[in-house]
Amino acid sequence: MTELQLFDTYERRVRPFEPLEAGKVGLYCCGPTVYNYAHIGNLRTYLFEDLLRRVLEMNGYTVNHVVNITDVGHLTSDADTGEDKMEVGARRTGMTAWEMADHYTRAFEDDLARLNIKAPSRWCKATDHIDEQIAFIKDLENKGYTYRTSDGIYFDSRRLNGYGHLARLDVDGLKEGARVDAGERRFVTDFALWKFSPPDNRRQMEWDSPWGVGFPGWHIECSAMSAKYLGDFFDIHCGGEDHIPIHHTNEIAQTEASRGTRLANFWMHGYFLQVDNAKMAKSSGEFLRLESLSERGIDTLAYRYLCLTAHYRTQMSFSWDSLASAEVALSRLRQTAYDWGEPGTVDADFDQRFRDCLNDDLGVPRALAVAWELVRADLSPATKKATILRFDEVLGLGLATWLPEETSVPDDIIGLAEEREQARRERNWQRADELRDAISAAGYLLEDTRDGYRVRKA
Ligand code: AMP
Ligand code: ZN
Repeated sequence: MTELQLFDTYERRVRPFEPLEAGKVGLYCCGPTVYNYAHIGNLRTYLFEDLLRRVLEMNGYTVNHVVNITDVGHLTSDADTGEDKMEVGARRTGMTAWEMADHYTRAFEDDLARLNIKAPSRWCKATDHIDEQIAFIKDLENKGYTYRTSDGIYFDSRRLNGYGHLARLDVDGLKEGARVDAGERRFVTDFALWKFSPPDNRRQMEWDSPWGVGFPGWHIECSAMSAKYLGDFFDIHCGGEDHIPIHHTNEIAQTEASRGTRLANFWMHGYFLQVDNAKMAKSSGEFLRLESLSERGIDTLAYRYLCLTAHYRTQMSFSWDSLASAEVALSRLRQTAYDWGEPGTVDADFDQRFRDCLNDDLGVPRALAVAWELVRADLSPATKKATILRFDEVLGLGLATWLPEETSVPDDIIGLAEEREQARRERNWQRADELRDAISAAGYLLEDTRDGYRVRKA
């Protein structure tokens, strides 16, 4: 049996995963900046993180999964210039920054649900943790890692030994290299911890601080909130590959300077979804949402299936053709599994092979191939059914609850059945019988089981 091995960006190698505390895993994933909908590229990263979580659970770990919501402070340029994306978004949508944050947070939660992505154990919003961020910056200031410019408090990256190790940044090379405009910053890799509100106008989101009214920089929220909910050193930190050179590099710098740890034992990154060979970006305006797939009549879980066909450490090119193929494969798998009927006992060999693929740095494309081998295998339908349902705890394709189109029941019939349940609860047997007759007359069969009713086409 293969023990779980994961690729750690910090060490640039696959290494055995051992939790810091037996049986438990602390997992922090950088969440969305809620100034717009998530695009399907963002969602690929969350699908990778969901797969990781499910594989950890498959290995028997209890996962404390924390995801932040960036609702303030992420500037339009990663060089800490430009405007707060939230203020720009508020102008674009005509909502207040607060309303907009709520709106896109809810839309994001919907997207996750429609992809069968498990909800995190805890959501945390940057704006709910201003005190924690101020305390963190204060500590950095006391330790001599900060300086002040006319527009904010900055982190002095050259004071920290080994700054940029995660990204293998050549800091000396940067010193020599072409002059990058650092503004008032002392060095190009220095970054904002606290930005002052502009003197001449009030921001929608601003707070008092020991340095003046303003708002936190983007990176400090993750160091402060992960410390609060997972401690100063926890198991795994994730995000998309774009976070390696700036956001995660700076999170590590803050935590190393303040707490002396590199924040997480493993650093894992999902590679980008490309469209027409260019990265899909929220800021470019033109992007595909999950909703854009539904609008074309495509089952959103086909996108989950598509993402399972590529390893998380390879970039994936999106095309409508590949999505259509994924949808065909998913339909076949659903129908086949449905036709296998009631589950029996899991086949131990298949189960082991499936786990071995996943434990080898989340080798899900190979695990999926094992699932298709199962389809063709010479085993009883009951064994196959039990085995595919076990696999689906990781694949997350909803095979246990899927019903073929022709047996799916229209809403008004479900409504009658629900009404009958209510009548039964109220011991109104006459009304219950009338409703059952109405269901039969419409051509559906209602059965009472131990877990409630079941209704299907007669
Ligand atoms: P954002 O909402 O822009 O902060 O990004 C949310 C997450 O999506 C981050 O983990 C990003 O690294 C990730 N991400 C952004 N663009 C892509 C893309 N084209 N493909 C995959 N992940 C992405
Ligand atoms: Zn982060």
